[in-house]
Amino acid sequence: MKIDMHSHFFPTINQAEAARLSRDRGPWLHTSGRTGQIMIGDKPFRPVHDVLWDMNRRIEHLDEQNLDAQIMCATPVMFAYDAPIERALPWAQLMNDRALEMTAVAPDRLKVLAQVPLQDIDAACREASRAKAAGHVGVQIGNHVGNQDLDHEGLVTFFTHCALDGIPVLVHPWDMMGGERMRKWMLPWLVAMPAETQLGILSLILSGAFERIPASLRLCFAHGGGGFAFLLGRVDNAWKHRDIVREDCPELPSSYVKRFFVDSAVFDPRSLKLLVDVMGSDRVMLGSDSPFPLGEQRIGSGVIEHPELTPQSKSLILGSNAQAFFGL
Ligand SMILES: [Zn+2]
Repeated sequence: MKIDMHSHFFPTINQAEAARLSRDRGPWLHTSGRTGQIMIGDKPFRPVHDVLWDMNRRIEHLDEQNLDAQIMCATPVMFAYDAPIERALPWAQLMNDRALEMTAVAPDRLKVLAQVPLQDIDAACREASRAKAAGHVGVQIGNHVGNQDLDHEGLVTFFTHCALDGIPVLVHPWDMMGGERMRKWMLPWLVAMPAETQLGILSLILSGAFERIPASLRLCFAHGGGGFAFLLGRVDNAWKHRDIVREDCPELPSSYVKRFFVDSAVFDPRSLKLLVDVMGSDRVMLGSDSPFPLGEQRIGSGVIEHPELTPQSKSLILGSNAQAFFGL
């Protein structure tokens, strides 16, 4: 069984539909044959190809990649957390309904995560539960809402709701820090994205938020948890030797790895080995970040061809963990 639990879609939203969210900042898709462009208002945002929106092509891609199933989530530019809720909620509902329609080509192989308007926690909880009832297998959220990180009271309320309603949550980094200092060479993706994920995980651990969120929450972080596995020793050392690191966090930071999962998108056998050593092979799931250029091009090859992971570990990472996590 080979399940890719981190991949993206973008629905065929036109400019008029995007303008209902925001004329200048609504994201939409301009297509021309098998290629396309995600647009933000009148401006090109990212060139894309048809596997992103054409589900017949997507299924061909799954066959080429020998995938049994793939879980798709929104391209983060679709989140719209800064829009007024009276626009953001119908937008999220439209994205979620379109996503589910896209899976109709092969509902047993294509699964989707919902997006929610996190700027309004009550609306986000309702939309997460509506989407779950409609057939979404979980939700994807960004790792922050403006200046609110994952330990914010509203986010803790959202996580608690998802735990109680049995909704798995994937946290994806977005809206990256760094600004003017990271204008070139995809530095926001290479430096700030892993740092955003590290910030999200540490905000939950060091704030004590994990003490307030039910342990039943199924929570996963993208991109192997960013810098987390490599930096965990640094965090534990700080917790032991500085009281200001301990003040809200009652247990050693490394003891909280049992509270979440990560995907396998780290692109190096040494990194994957470290990740599995730190998290345990029961807490890593195959995630490709397909179909973008920064994703794994031969999906699952980093796990399948790994020289040191055991066959049992590979089996868990390639499919069994995701089956259990998403209840497939
Ligand atoms: Zn991604």
